[in-house]
Amino acid sequence: MPIASINPATGETFKTFQPLTETEIDGKLQRAAETFRSYRRTSFAERATMMARAAEILENEKQELAKLMALEMGKPVNGGVGEAEKCAWVCRYYAETAEQHLSEQVIETNASRSYIRFDSLGPVLAVMPWNFPLWQVFRFAAPALMAGNVGLLKHASNVPQCALAIEDIIRRAGFPEGVFQTLLVGADAVARILEDRRVAAATLTGSEKAGRSVAAIAGKQIKKTVLELGGSDPFIVMPSANLDEAVTTAVKARTINNGQSCIAAKRFIVADEIYEEFERSFVAQMQALRVGDPTDKATEIGPLAMEQILKDVDDQVQRSLAAGAILLTGGKRLDRPGHFYEPTVLANVPREAPVSCEEVFGPVAMLFRVSSIDEAIELANTTTFGLGAAAWTTDDAEQVRFVAELEAGSVFINGMVASDPRLPFGGIKNSGYGRELSEFGIREFVNIKTVWIK
Ligand code: NAP
Repeated sequence: MPIASINPATGETFKTFQPLTETEIDGKLQRAAETFRSYRRTSFAERATMMARAAEILENEKQELAKLMALEMGKPVNGGVGEAEKCAWVCRYYAETAEQHLSEQVIETNASRSYIRFDSLGPVLAVMPWNFPLWQVFRFAAPALMAGNVGLLKHASNVPQCALAIEDIIRRAGFPEGVFQTLLVGADAVARILEDRRVAAATLTGSEKAGRSVAAIAGKQIKKTVLELGGSDPFIVMPSANLDEAVTTAVKARTINNGQSCIAAKRFIVADEIYEEFERSFVAQMQALRVGDPTDKATEIGPLAMEQILKDVDDQVQRSLAAGAILLTGGKRLDRPGHFYEPTVLANVPREAPVSCEEVFGPVAMLFRVSSIDEAIELANTTTFGLGAAAWTTDDAEQVRFVAELEAGSVFINGMVASDPRLPFGGIKNSGYGRELSEFGIREFVNIKTVWIK
């Protein structure tokens, strides 16, 4: 894929970049390794001052950053402003908590003193996706840098200017040159970078295919990885739920970021008793969404980020219809320039159709009708993914069952799945492994060192 900014609302290419040469990559890896040797000795207080400054810059420049995201990947500007604010939040969260998360833990043994310390690992490669072009990177960078690691960012090829903006923010926050570097390279350069002995570990947020590839390379090199991959999250609605709230939240949970979120609700599993009402209201609200120019503040749904995504989404919809699904609304590309797809609702999707559990990365919802909680849980878990799950019920016993039996990294009751710096985030099954955010995230890229002194 060329490294280029292509406006998804118009299809126009407005900036292109040459990928780094082998020599340039080598120079960046060398700088990362050398910077790490001194940066690892900085104190938490020094790092926290710089991280708090990064938060300030993000807040001050959130409008410009939102505009850049809208132009490069089509995120409506309101969402972009929220994303920049959330990045500021994660920077402040780790500025304030890193020392406590990584403080030494004394363990009584037969030694005069024994304890656990958390040491930084070195340069960590982050292979990142375009869908939350700032948030995905900051939720890696804030804990990694606060832990004393240095970062190497290989961002998605369609958001090079977002990648450079992040590097610039971190530099202006006062972090030394080399603590965080953007590598403008294609996916084909990842293997060679990951195999380099100067790179200590890697994290990838992206598709299952990319995750498998990076994990295989890292496995050969015996390097730690964290994988944040796709999802096909269920959103279950039981008869006792507040239906109005459930429907409004369901529409938001499906269409946030133009439907291109790993934790977007994708399969709506609704109890028989309330199914008709849910379907009617859900379809009406999907039809009422304002689709348009992502730089317009009134827009709720912008274009899909790339032409290929639109083709993939449409192919999944057509395959669902061929398998017996019923189209309730949408189902086609909008007749205008850019990669716009109509908010779409499918019902009666056969469970065994591959599209029922494939990840659909666009504003397409699938409705399923179930007659019991057992059926709801069984259907929700019938997927190779296990990222998030939401269930709506006010019945205590049902809540207990959903929390215990839904196979996912997060279960949200009477709400939509969302990330929060204070809570761990990640998946099971083909959604990946490892955790980001919270104390668990900052402990992924550290050496948990046992110290025993007689
Ligand atoms: P993608 O195609 O896998 O790309 C993600 C990143 O991986 C990009 O930087 C891409 O580089 C790189 N890449 C692609 N193939 C690679 C390979 N074989 N080896 C090494 N690197 C490779 O995914 P995407 O389309 O950008 O993002 C959407 C996916 O990300 C969805 O599946 C979504 O669910 C997932 N996601 C997961 C989370 C989570 O936290 N679990 C969060 C957000 C998104 P190029 O751009 O140069 O190809």
